[in-house]
Amino acid sequence: MILTAYLCDSLDALGIAACEFDLEHRTTAWNRTFTEFFPEHAAHVHVGEPYAENLRRFYRGRLGADEVCEIERYVAEGIARHQNQTQPYEFTHRHRRLRVSSLEAPGGSRLRLWQQIVLEGATTRQPAPVFDALEYIPDGATILSADDRILATNAEFRRLYDIPHDRVIVGLTLDEIIAEAWRFGPSTGALRATIRNGLRYDGAPFEVELPGNRWRRVIVRHADDGLGYFTHADITANKRQQQEILEAQEALRRANAELSRLATTDALTGLANRRRFADALALEAARQQSLGLILVDVDHFKAINDRFGHPAGDACLNSIAAAIAAVVPAAKALVARIGGEEFGVVLSNTGLKEARSFAAGIRQAVASLPWSALQTGLDKITISVGVCAGAGPLDPAEMQLAADRALYVAKRAGRDRVEVVTLNSLSVCRRDTAQQG
Ligand code: GH3
Ligand code: MG
Ligand code: MG
Repeated sequence: MILTAYLCDSLDALGIAACEFDLEHRTTAWNRTFTEFFPEHAAHVHVGEPYAENLRRFYRGRLGADEVCEIERYVAEGIARHQNQTQPYEFTHRHRRLRVSSLEAPGGSRLRLWQQIVLEGATTRQPAPVFDALEYIPDGATILSADDRILATNAEFRRLYDIPHDRVIVGLTLDEIIAEAWRFGPSTGALRATIRNGLRYDGAPFEVELPGNRWRRVIVRHADDGLGYFTHADITANKRQQQEILEAQEALRRANAELSRLATTDALTGLANRRRFADALALEAARQQSLGLILVDVDHFKAINDRFGHPAGDACLNSIAAAIAAVVPAAKALVARIGGEEFGVVLSNTGLKEARSFAAGIRQAVASLPWSALQTGLDKITISVGVCAGAGPLDPAEMQLAADRALYVAKRAGRDRVEVVTLNSLSVCRRDTAQQG
């Protein structure tokens, strides 16, 4: 025997495993590194053990179920390799790459030596088992069984879902974990549905909300054996930024809507202003349907201002505005203040007869307002009204001119009256005086 205790220790110090066999291939000596590289032999190897037994243990741990029936062939080939080996060769065993040499000693015994090879770029560290590897994943990570129950997680996962370090979570489902995070919050029914749905789509991220407006993004992949591998990332900052952008967009939309409302509204009366009146008239005039237009001008309004003051005049304008709007149906009429004491009403889908009837109603309504209650000493305010109507499409400018012409006629005829004009003739064709209205 050449493998003395001293040589065993020396080889251990060098990290080299050694095992010696006699001429009959029986084991005679081995060192500590041998049982470190081949832990399957640790409790079994003994002096006098045939090399075949050693090989059987070795192959039992390595061969798959479909190959193990061939084990004796592997053992026989192993013995032959052992007898005839002249060159070292390499193989991997238990995550170690080993180079094995077989030396024939002078007496005919054989010494086998195994040295671990460190591959270029690799560390001497053995690959960690997958559960240990979870701790090296910076995101939260979980492995779930085929029935979606937690098998393993890392510490980051616990941190992300507020799970105390001593809480046992193996066997729980993800929605149970999230329901626990929400235990003081509202019902988590919708959340459970999100999670269940998310689990169905491998690789597609889904978002989970936690209390305190915190968000996690989960991505799942399932392996062929059904195991689920999950990563969980904290996307709270992104989500909050997204929410802020949406809120800012909504505020901007509201501000724009308010601006456009202001741009088309008369500040004193709240009616549409001249711009909106012109737009509505143009829009309605382009249609292939009848269109009525009423223009109103307050009679001798300057005198009212002069007598009662401008604020009183404003109050009168407000009352007149409300009276006009109350007469015409909101669904088909746009009522606007188009000048100081001038109002316009665009009446869509309205013929001359109906338009005239609305105009008469407006004149009547203004005349019968309780003016003395609004302003002491003011017994009456009257208006002059011009009406025109036609069958669309019409020229809006021409239409306004026609209604204006009718209004002028009303003024000339003594005020407090309605005058009507048909658009095609652009001439007064009917008179609707105060007495008639
Ligand atoms: P007419 O019967 O011929 O229409 O006489 P009028 O006095 O109403 O006509 P005029 O055009 O001479 O005067 C219109 C007056 O309307 C002059 C102006 O002081 C007044 N007015 C215009 N805008 C406002 C307003 O916003 N508030 C008040 N209080 N008065 C206004
Ligand atoms: Mg006027
Ligand atoms: Mg006037």
